[in-house]
Amino acid sequence: MSSVNSTNASPRSQALISALNFPKVNVERPISSTSPVSEFFGSMTFGLAQMREKLPKDAYQNLLKTLEHGKKLPKETAESIASAVKEWAVAKGVTHFCHWFQPMTGLTAEKHDAFITIQTSYHSELRVIERFTEGQLIQGEPDASSFPSGGMRSTFEARGYTTWDPSSPIFIVEDEGGKTLCIPTVFFGYHGQALDCKTPLLRSLESLSHEACEFLKLIGDVDVKRINATLGAEQEYFLVDRNFVSLRPDLIMTGRTLLGASSPRGQQLEDHYFGSIPSRVQKYMQDVEFELFKLGIPAKTRHNEVAPSQFELAPIFEDVNISADHNTLSMDVLKRVALKHNFVCLLHEKPFAGINGSGKHNNWSLSNDKGENLLEPGTTPHQNLRFLTVLSVVLKAVHDHASLLRASIASPGNDHRLGANEAPPAIISVFLGSMLEKICTEIEQGKSAQATDQQIIDLGVGKIPNISKDYTDRNRTSPFAFTGNKFEFRAVGSSAIVSIPMTILNSAVAHTFREAAEKLKTLLKTKGSRDEAVMELTRQYLKESHKVRFDGNGYSQEWKEEAKRRGLPILNSTAEALEVFKDEKASSFLTKTNVLSTEEIMSRYHISVERYVKTIDIEIDTLLEMVQTLVIPSVEKQITALAHTQQSLNLTSLKKHHQSRTNKLEQVFDSILSLQDELIRLTDSVREGHDETAKMKRLASEVQPLSFKLRDACDAAERLVSDDFWPLPKYREMLFTNSLS
Ligand code: ADP
Ligand code: MG
Repeated sequence: MSSVNSTNASPRSQALISALNFPKVNVERPISSTSPVSEFFGSMTFGLAQMREKLPKDAYQNLLKTLEHGKKLPKETAESIASAVKEWAVAKGVTHFCHWFQPMTGLTAEKHDAFITIQTSYHSELRVIERFTEGQLIQGEPDASSFPSGGMRSTFEARGYTTWDPSSPIFIVEDEGGKTLCIPTVFFGYHGQALDCKTPLLRSLESLSHEACEFLKLIGDVDVKRINATLGAEQEYFLVDRNFVSLRPDLIMTGRTLLGASSPRGQQLEDHYFGSIPSRVQKYMQDVEFELFKLGIPAKTRHNEVAPSQFELAPIFEDVNISADHNTLSMDVLKRVALKHNFVCLLHEKPFAGINGSGKHNNWSLSNDKGENLLEPGTTPHQNLRFLTVLSVVLKAVHDHASLLRASIASPGNDHRLGANEAPPAIISVFLGSMLEKICTEIEQGKSAQATDQQIIDLGVGKIPNISKDYTDRNRTSPFAFTGNKFEFRAVGSSAIVSIPMTILNSAVAHTFREAAEKLKTLLKTKGSRDEAVMELTRQYLKESHKVRFDGNGYSQEWKEEAKRRGLPILNSTAEALEVFKDEKASSFLTKTNVLSTEEIMSRYHISVERYVKTIDIEIDTLLEMVQTLVIPSVEKQITALAHTQQSLNLTSLKKHHQSRTNKLEQVFDSILSLQDELIRLTDSVREGHDETAKMKRLASEVQPLSFKLRDACDAAERLVSDDFWPLPKYREMLFTNSLS
C-alpha cells in the first residue's frame, strides 16, 4: 500500500501502520527462575489454605463442617472469617468489595461497595473506618430487577439475594482503577428460585455425589463418602489488533465480522497450529498467565490454534465448581490483559467466516474422596469393573439425555460452528477409541456373563490401563470423546458459561446413577455374585446406549443419515434445540434430581429465546448500518471513478474491457441494494410479531439466510472496489498482521 506513509492516509491505513508499530508493552516477568510461580501462585486469593492459617482453629473446623456436610455457618465463625478477609484485603490495598455472581445473562455481575463506614464517635465527631461485617460477607441484596429472571419474578417482588459460596476462593481483582475484593456468590430470588448459573451447578454436584455414592456402595466401595466432578476447560480465542477493531462496527457491536471477503490464504497451509507463537502474542500470554497465577488459576498450556491469530489456553483440571469460576474469570483476564497489549481478545464462537471458529473443550471426569479417578482403569479387577460400569452409566446418561445436552450448548454464536466441518456436528454421539470400543462390544455380546476375575482378564479388562495409550483418540469430529481417563465434551462454544453444560451433564449422570442403583438392587437378588450382577448391569447399559456410540467421521454426510436411521436427536440450530426445554419428559431428570424446578427450566428457556432474538436483532441492525454507511458509499466512489476513467479512454477494445468491469460492479451493487431492501422489509415484518418463540424461528429460518446473501454481495464488492476506497480492515490485515511483528 503506497499511501501508508502519507499523513492523510485513510483511517484503515493508519490502523495498519499503528498495528505494525504496536507500542512495546513492558511485561512484568516474574515467571522466571528468580521468582518461581509457587511463590506468588494464589497470592490474590483467600481460600482454604489462607483460612487455615488466619482463622482461629475452631472457626476453621466449623468452616470445614459447612463445606463437607452443608452445615449452616455459625455467626461467630462468619464474623471471624469476615474480619480475617478484611484484614488481608486492606493490607493488600483493597478499597472495595463486591459479591461476584453469574446471572443468567451469560456474563458475570458485580456491584462494588467501599469498605468504609462512617462512625459517629463519643463527641459526635464523624470518623471513617474500614469495616466489613459477617453480614456483608454472607449476604447481599443487589437490585435484581435489572437481571433476567425469565418471568420468575413480578416487579413487586423483584428482590434478589446473593450468598457466599465458601467452596470457591475469595479473590482480588486489580487493575489501574484499583483493587476489588470479589466474593463468589450464588444469586436467587425471594422464594429461593435460582437466578444464576452457579446455584443449579452446586445442586447438580450435590445430587451427583449422593447418587454416585449410593451406587458405588452397592458395587462394593462401601466407604465412599463423596464423589466430585472434575473439569479442565480448554479455552480458544482470537487476538486482533485494537486499531482494526476500532474501525469495525461489527466486531464492536457483535464480537464477530458480519462482512469481509476471505483472504486468499486462510488456514489451508495448516501452518499456524503448533507453529511458533509471534513474540507480541507470547508477551501477552506471559502477562495473562501472571494474572491467572496470582488468582490461583492453574494455567498449564498455551499454543496456537488451527486458524491464523487463534490461540488456546488450557488449565489443569479442578473440581467443577472451582474450575467453572476459574474459566469465567480467565475469560475476563484474557479480555482485560489484551487491551493492555493493544489487542482485542475475541471469545465469540465464529469471529471470522471461512476459517475455524472457537470452542471450549470441557474435559470432565469423576473422582472419589481418595482422589481416584473413576474413569481411569485401575490395576485390580475390581477397579476395572468399576471403571467399566461407571463408563456404561455415563454412556447411558449421554444417550438418554442427548437432546438436553445439545440444548445446553445452544447459542447463536455456536450455531455458526456446530456441523460446519470444523466442530462436531449438532448430533450428540460418543467416541470411545478402538480398544475400548472392542471391549464394550464384547461385553454387550455377553462374552463375559459370568465375570469371574479370569474372564475379566480374558476380556482384556485386566489390561485396560493401555487405554490411555490408545492414540486412535485423535477423532476430532466427535462432540463427546473418551480420551483415556476422562470425557471431553467438545461441542461447547468458546463464549459459553461452562456451568450450564456441566449442570446438565452432572444431573444426567446423577439421574442415571439413581436408576442404575435400583436396577442393580434387583440384579443382586437374582445373580450368583455381586460382580456378576454389576457386569450384567454394565452389559445392559452398553446395549441400551449402543446407538449413541460412533467412531467414524462426524463431519460426513453419511453420519447425518446414519444418525437419522438410528433415531438420535438431530437439532441443527439453537431455535430447534431450545424447544427441548419445553419437553417435560426430556427435562424431567432435572426436576427429579432437584437441580431445576419446572419454573426454573422454563425461565431458562425464555431467557435463551430472548437472548437469541436480541442477538440476531443487533446483528441485523449492525449489518444494515454498515451496508448503508460504509459499503454503499465506497461502491459509489468506485463507480464514479470508473465512469471518469471510461471517458478518458480511446482504444475501443480497452473501452470494452473497462465497460465490462463497470457492468460487473453495477450488478453487484444492484444485488446489494435489492437484498438490503428485502432484508429491511423482512425484518420489519418479523418484528411486528409478539410471540418471541415465533420470532426466534423466523429469524433463524428466514432473516439470517437472507443476511448471509447480503453479506456475500458485499464481499463480492470488497473484491472489486479499490483498496483506497474500502473503509473496513480486511481479513488479511486483521488475521495476519500478528505474524509480521
Ligand atoms: P489433550 O486433550 O490436548 O491431549 P490433556 O490430556 O493434557 O490434553 O488434557 C486436556 C485437559 O484435560 C487439561 O485441562 C487437563 O487438566 C484436563 N484433564 C486431565 N485429566 C482430567 C480429569 N481427570 N478430569 C477433568 N479434566 C482432566
Ligand atoms: Mg483436548
